[in-house]
Amino acid sequence: MGLKAEASRVGSPTVREGQPTNQALPHGRASDTNRGFIDSVMTVEKTLAQLVAVDSVSSRPNAEIISYLVARCEAAGFTIKRFPHTDENGVEKINLIALAGSEFSGPPTVELALVGHTDTVPYDPVWTEALRLTEKDGKLFGRGACDTKAFIAAALTAIDSIDLSKLWKPLALVFTADEEIGCLGAKRLAQAQLFTARYAIVGEPTSLQPMRAGKGYCFAEVTVRGREAHSAYPGLGASAIFRAARLIGRIEQIAQKIKSDRHAGFDPPYTTLNVGVIEGGTAKNIIAGECRFTLEWRTVPRQDSDYVLNLVREAVSEVRKQDPDFVCEIDAARADESFETSSDSELVRFLENTAGKGSGTVAFGTEAPSMIALGAEVAIFGPGDIRFAHRTGEFVPVDQLNDCVRILRQAIERFCL
Ligand SMILES: [Zn+2]
Repeated sequence: MGLKAEASRVGSPTVREGQPTNQALPHGRASDTNRGFIDSVMTVEKTLAQLVAVDSVSSRPNAEIISYLVARCEAAGFTIKRFPHTDENGVEKINLIALAGSEFSGPPTVELALVGHTDTVPYDPVWTEALRLTEKDGKLFGRGACDTKAFIAAALTAIDSIDLSKLWKPLALVFTADEEIGCLGAKRLAQAQLFTARYAIVGEPTSLQPMRAGKGYCFAEVTVRGREAHSAYPGLGASAIFRAARLIGRIEQIAQKIKSDRHAGFDPPYTTLNVGVIEGGTAKNIIAGECRFTLEWRTVPRQDSDYVLNLVREAVSEVRKQDPDFVCEIDAARADESFETSSDSELVRFLENTAGKGSGTVAFGTEAPSMIALGAEVAIFGPGDIRFAHRTGEFVPVDQLNDCVRILRQAIERFCL
C-alpha cells in the first residue's frame, strides 16, 4: 500500500510491527504526509519512510513534520498541544507534547516521557535519496533515519499497540525543534516548565545501549585586541595575533591540567577543550588589530561549567601581568550542563535488562539536561549508531528499529500501565 491511502483510514490503523519488509519501501513526498497517510498496515519501516520524506532540516519551519506527528498521535488517542515560537531567523518552530492519561490543565506531571527531536542536520544535494528511505542489506538509509527519526518511528509504532484506557500513569510523547542547533526547543520547554516528568527516555542513536550520563557542552568566543600599524614599524603597534597565540598557549596547558579530573566511564575520561576556529588580521604587512577564536569544552559530570572558564580568565590575568595593555573579551555563549543518572535508577535498570546491554555514557550534547530541569530521571536511548549520523548515507539497522519498538512498548507497560 502506498502512502496515498484514503483519509478515511485515518484513525483505525492496524499495527503489525516487528516484521522487516523484503519489499521496496513505500515512499512519500513531503506533500503526502498531511493527507491520508496512515496505511491499513502501518509498520515501523513505513512510519520511518514517511518521517524521512518530510524535509525537517533545522533551518526550515517544522510545521509539516509536526502536522504528521499530531495526526499520528491523535489517531492513537493522545491529546496534543503545540507550543510554537519564532526563532531568531523569523522561522516558526513548534514543540509538540502528546499526552495520554492526563490533561493539559496546569503543567501535567507525566510518569514517562519519550522525547525525540524533529529536526535533522542538512544533507548534501548530491545525496539524491536523502528524503527517500532506502533499504539495503538490512539497513535503512535516509537523512534522519538514524538521528533521530528512527526513535520517533519506534515510539509512534509502540503507542499504536497500547490500550490507553488501561494507563494508570500519564504518558507523554515530546517532539522538539532545533535540537541540532543547540537543543533550543527542549530548553524552551524546560524554561517554561510546560510539564514535569518522572522518567524520560531521550531518543538518540545509541545502538540500543542505555546511556545514563553525558558530558556538558560549553562554548565561548574570545576576541583579543591589538593596535594596527605598518608591519615595518612593530613598535608603533601591538599584534593581536601574537597576543592571542600567547593566550592559546596557556589554554593548551589548561587542556592538559584538566585531564587530572577524571570521570571513569567516559572516553576520554576527562573534560576536553578545543580551539576550533581562529581568524584575525587584515593583510600580511599590517600588524593585526584583532584576533578572534572559538573555545569549546565538554565537561565531565560533577564539574561546574564555569570551571574551565575561570581557568581561562586566570590565564588572561597571567598574560596581562607581562603585557599590561593586553585586552581580551570572552563571550561565554553557551553552558549546557553535564548529566548523570544513578546506575540504580529504575529506568536505567529497566533499559539495561530489556535491551540486554549495560549502560554507558555519551560525549555529545543531548536534551537530557532540559528533561532533568523538568524533574526527570533520564536515559539516552535509541536505534542506530551516532558514528553514522550526520553524514551522507546515514542509516539505522532494521533489526534495531524493530527492537526499539518492542523495548519502548515494554517501557510504557512497565512505567504507565
Ligand atoms: Zn539527534
